[in-house]
Amino acid sequence: MAITAPVIISGAGPVGCTLALRLARGGVPVRLLEASPSLPETLRASTFHPPTLDMLDRLGMAAPLVAQGLVCPRFQYRDRRTGEIAEFDLGLLADLTRHPYRLQAEQWKYTRLVWETLQREHPDVAGCLFSHAVRGVYDTGEGVEVLVWVDEGGGRGHEAVLRGSYLVGCDGADSVVRRAVGIPFEGFTYPERFVVVSTPFPLEEKFERLAPVNYIADPEEWLVLLRTPSLWRVLIPTDPAIEDDSRWLADRWIQDRLHHMAPHDGDYPVVHRTVYRVHQRVAASWHRGRVLIAGDAAHVNNPLGGMGMNGGIHDAWNLGAKLLRAHAGEDAMPLLAAYDRERRGVTTRFVQEQTMANKKMLEAKDPGAQARRQQDLMATAADPARARAFLLRSSMIDSLREAGGLD
Ligand SMILES: Cc1cc2nc3c(=O)[nH]c(=O)nc-3n(C[C@H](O)[C@H](O)[C@H](O)COP(=O)(O)OP(=O)(O)OC[C@H]3O[C@@H](n4cnc5c(N)ncnc54)[C@H](O)[C@@H]3O)c2cc1C
Repeated sequence: MAITAPVIISGAGPVGCTLALRLARGGVPVRLLEASPSLPETLRASTFHPPTLDMLDRLGMAAPLVAQGLVCPRFQYRDRRTGEIAEFDLGLLADLTRHPYRLQAEQWKYTRLVWETLQREHPDVAGCLFSHAVRGVYDTGEGVEVLVWVDEGGGRGHEAVLRGSYLVGCDGADSVVRRAVGIPFEGFTYPERFVVVSTPFPLEEKFERLAPVNYIADPEEWLVLLRTPSLWRVLIPTDPAIEDDSRWLADRWIQDRLHHMAPHDGDYPVVHRTVYRVHQRVAASWHRGRVLIAGDAAHVNNPLGGMGMNGGIHDAWNLGAKLLRAHAGEDAMPLLAAYDRERRGVTTRFVQEQTMANKKMLEAKDPGAQARRQQDLMATAADPARARAFLLRSSMIDSLREAGGLD
């Protein structure tokens, strides 16, 4: 039976936005609720992998996003001590993807594009509401009743109940929806914090042959250097023994780390800094009756490899396909169970494993292990067959194929 009551989506991050647009394109009524008074524009994910861009292309979103981003076919693994470089070129996958590159573009540019598209092209099926925070849900068996706090500003607001066919929690790592239906978030939290510092300084002047995406291994202090169209972002780990976050945001500490990375006369300009905790967790179930979760609400991982947002968009794509089939008349519950099986399965088997391995690889304390890792990466990059296998994995094409592909 066609879905007539709206699918309520909690959270207008990249995952909620993707799901809303995919459903709206298929004529499914949606209601996208965002707790904030406007779209969050914090600097978070900035890497879009090739299969993610292929998906966005099918929604008409790839070309406008590419126009605002940086096309990066090459990325590197560097050994900080020896300066050796293993460089991979996504051009090797040009027969498999229409976007054989990583796109470096801030995630807020993507959510803004989608939000504007929903307003402009789908005002009939997509209602998008700011300052609407989901607080709870009751699954009636026939639909959902969602309790929402409507913030009117100035400390005022009121509660309202919205009725829909399903509720999808795309409300981030602290998901209210996941907690409302009592789903455990299993895994662990790393002891150290991660600091991200953004500078407009042209770091490519400090390193030879620097690619826009670089993973730099070192037994003492690994780094990740990522370029966006206007900034370089430097990801730096911290000492787990020190809990005080203010320490990591202090000018002196940041300048010390940047000068240790690349000596420089005077201070580096710093336009943005953030410190955050990193977790490896997967929700025990992504489907409870008519309530579902996707994206960070369902899984979180370290940012090494850029798999958090991308994996979340792949969840939205998969779930969107299932809901479209339900809208066309298929029995919904087996489809939703398949979503849980496919996406949770691949997230546990692949994304969690891969991101944990990426971190171990960068931070290995044994210099011998570091040297072997670098030699192995260089040998892989130099052998087209091995490089291709490596790229299929790191660009998430393998995991997507395993979880049902690009349907
Ligand atoms: C510093 C940093 C760097 C990162 N870098 C990368 C990277 O390079 N590559 C990558 O793939 N990933 C990266 N990530 C992870 C990435 O940002 C997340 O995986 C991604 O944002 C998840 O998208 P989402 O839509 O699931 O959740 P979010 O982006 O967290 O969006 C959730 C939305 O829900 C809203 N919300 C919350 N509660 C409610 C509620 N009760 N009701 C309604 N709305 C609600 C929030 O306001 C928010 O807009 C990074 C994360 C951080 C913190």
